[in-house]
Amino acid sequence: MENLNDTRAVLERIHELQLQLNELNGRLRRGTLLLKSQMATIQKNEAALQKVTDEFQKLHAYAKQKELEVAQNDLNLAKRKEQLREAKTNKEYQALQLQIAADEAARSVLDDEALEAIEKAEKFHDSVDLAEQELKKSQELYVKTKNKFAEDKPKIDDNISKVRDLLKVEEVKLPREFKEIYDRLVRSMGGGESLAVVENQRYCGACNHQIPINSLAILMQKIPVTCSSCARLLYIPKDFVFDRG
Ligand SMILES: [Zn+2]
Repeated sequence: MENLNDTRAVLERIHELQLQLNELNGRLRRGTLLLKSQMATIQKNEAALQKVTDEFQKLHAYAKQKELEVAQNDLNLAKRKEQLREAKTNKEYQALQLQIAADEAARSVLDDEALEAIEKAEKFHDSVDLAEQELKKSQELYVKTKNKFAEDKPKIDDNISKVRDLLKVEEVKLPREFKEIYDRLVRSMGGGESLAVVENQRYCGACNHQIPINSLAILMQKIPVTCSSCARLLYIPKDFVFDRG
């Protein structure tokens, strides 16, 4: 039965806790990033909606303008026909007839233009509807993600503080020479990257670098050894059998 204060067991437990901490922090980070990217999608969709709305308003204003021109032309025509009835001379009568013919020709063109402009604006409104739907969808997705994260975050935070407390309990058990190296590695590489287990009798569990037999021999004497490739503090697994090769 292994002593709970055995350095090997303590390092293993610390490593396990550090990896848990990594995973929990990763979940927080991913949640924040997801919200950020979904917010960016909303902003993109808002800009797209603004663009098609502006375009629609331009088309709509043009159609209205054409309708006004038709109405104005109708007024002109009515006025000329009135004048025609009151024409005093033949010359005046003929001039008005020519005017009326020109106005009627213009009216036909204007009518077509107005109709075309109205159709174009109406058809373009589909793009506005589509952009509105896209925006609504992205807003709903964001709210859903935000609510889910608001629900998860306190639990993750709570777990993080629990793991940190457990970690503190284990860290004080480390002998001074181990603690110094460990603390330095945690500061420079982060907790999850500070330790590595020896795998397959002689390989660093993090970077797969082959550990020299002399280093393993030192490790067996409970002296701290770091991987010469990735710098992590090494520890051996529970059932490790030292093989001098
Ligand atoms: Zn390594």
